Amino acid sequence: MEIVAGITLKAIKPEVWVVDSEYYLPQLQAIMVSYADFHKMPANRKKAMDQGLHSYLKVPNHIKVYLDNGSFYFISHVGETPAKEYAEFVQYARPNWFPIPQDFIPTPKMTEEEQQKCLELTMDMNHRYWYENYVPVAHISPLLEDYVTRLKSFEQLHQKESIALGGIVPNLLKASKAMHPQRVLEKLIHIRREFEDKKLHVFGIGGTITLHIAALLGVNSVDSSGWRNRAARGIVQLPGTGDRMVINLGSWRGREPDLREWDILAQCQCPACREYGLDGLKAKLVHGFRNRATHNLWILLEEVRLIQEHLITGDYSNWYLNHLDNTLYRPLIEKIIELEKGES
Ligand SMILES: [Zn+2]
Repeated sequence: MEIVAGITLKAIKPEVWVVDSEYYLPQLQAIMVSYADFHKMPANRKKAMDQGLHSYLKVPNHIKVYLDNGSFYFISHVGETPAKEYAEFVQYARPNWFPIPQDFIPTPKMTEEEQQKCLELTMDMNHRYWYENYVPVAHISPLLEDYVTRLKSFEQLHQKESIALGGIVPNLLKASKAMHPQRVLEKLIHIRREFEDKKLHVFGIGGTITLHIAALLGVNSVDSSGWRNRAARGIVQLPGTGDRMVINLGSWRGREPDLREWDILAQCQCPACREYGLDGLKAKLVHGFRNRATHNLWILLEEVRLIQEHLITGDYSNWYLNHLDNTLYRPLIEKIIELEKGES
């Protein structure tokens, strides 16, 4: 499973994809940048189109550049996505992966009619942009089965190699009326089974534990900006467990590491910890941010490496019992393992 590291043009560092950066992460395979960033900075948009995204961002060729359509930003700030400009950008800047120009994300708060409307609008976009490499989008919602049926009924969409799934974030954030995690899981299993041969990308999964669920379900790639957002709030990630706050940067509250966890952090082999140690993680301002962000992304990449290693050797179902903390998601992992045993 590919971890796609969400980045922003506003604060490009740490440039974990640049080979001669002190924060270079050689395991990194892909990054994601939002079209909304280019919309806000027309000069950068032009440069990226002139040079191509890889050369503009100094991304080596072995790392893929995913483009996000920025739908969430455009709906909340502008009203509508500039679809033509997006299509033009895609043509010249040449990202490796890009979704349809706009999708309409249903939230748990919406009425059934509103969610239905989102489905109609998103499917309309899927139909209009069936050609080239535009990736069709579906959303986790009570209507997911309808998205699946309709994607399958349109031959050109059914032929697509890839599909993207959005809308998972509001549900995982336990917003009011959010779907129960068990139901989110059922929806994920449904879409994975219905599109067995397609590359499935899930938008916005960034916790260490949720990575396990995605990997077990055979999701091909997930993107997250969580490594940076958490870092900005003084939060670091740890193997197999939840977030820990290593420096108090304001009104955020979080659990601090216990002695054992400080010890794990002290031995961390990521480039930031090797160079700057615990002081680096606890530092303020940009220095601390860059260290924590690099650390967080390294932890996610390591977690996926470990998950895959144990899935391949076949001892995942024993390994995770000791590796993973007792969390809300643990019953979901048990459920997936049970389902797989039932099938084999
Ligand atoms: Zn580290």
